[in-house]
Amino acid sequence: METLYSLSWLTTIAGGLLFWLIEGRIPFFSSPGTRGNHAKMNLSIAGINLLILLPGSIALSFALEHAKPYWSGVRALDISPLAQTVLIVVLIDLWMYTWHRFNHISEFLWRFHAVHHSDPSLDVTTAWRFHYVEILFSELLRFPVFILIGASIQDLLLYSMIMTPIIEFHHSNIRIPSAVDRMLRLIVPTPLMHRLHHSAIRAEHDTNYGSMLSLWDRLFGSYLVKKDISDIAIGLTNESDSDKQRVPALLLRPFNN
Ligand SMILES: [Zn+2]
Repeated sequence: METLYSLSWLTTIAGGLLFWLIEGRIPFFSSPGTRGNHAKMNLSIAGINLLILLPGSIALSFALEHAKPYWSGVRALDISPLAQTVLIVVLIDLWMYTWHRFNHISEFLWRFHAVHHSDPSLDVTTAWRFHYVEILFSELLRFPVFILIGASIQDLLLYSMIMTPIIEFHHSNIRIPSAVDRMLRLIVPTPLMHRLHHSAIRAEHDTNYGSMLSLWDRLFGSYLVKKDISDIAIGLTNESDSDKQRVPALLLRPFNN
């Protein structure tokens, strides 16, 4: 467990630093302002959130351990331990997709999630920019959901070890050849997909909710890609929030690429 804990921190920090260096060399958006000040702002927000996340994960670990004798969830299935772990990791990712989508559907939750979308320049540090109330709700909901799935704290650490570098990657401002992005998005949400998710246009930012797998967006009709996003406006404008009419996700060409 200590190894998994160290590894999840290692992949988070190493991934963050690596993508920060690459986006400095080959940025997609030119002149994103002062990178240092932008990072300082987003990492300060992340620092506040750690005050919720760290005690939250200790409490969650305690709750999952104590729920185990009463409810096994996926661990009760007659499949190999490896298959159970894979299924749990996939189900955790499905929950992340669902929770993210709720944050866009509910006007109440959107008020907090909008802080993430309000970043006017998208880079790897945006992956850590969340309102603390969103973090608090997300942390509280993990208790019933993960108990229901039958996840252990080791499963969560494994998920975080894989998922965190992926979310750092798709937030990063790296210029990636479109053929490479097309291949990668068969499995994971890519920078192109996630830039559309940070578009100021609501019909675009109500798409591409995936964290680790792009599968859910394809499956549930929220997948959107465009050939050319060079003129995309990132962030939120007055129009973004006044346009309360949601475009049904299925109209957004779910399987185009
Ligand atoms: Zn979002």
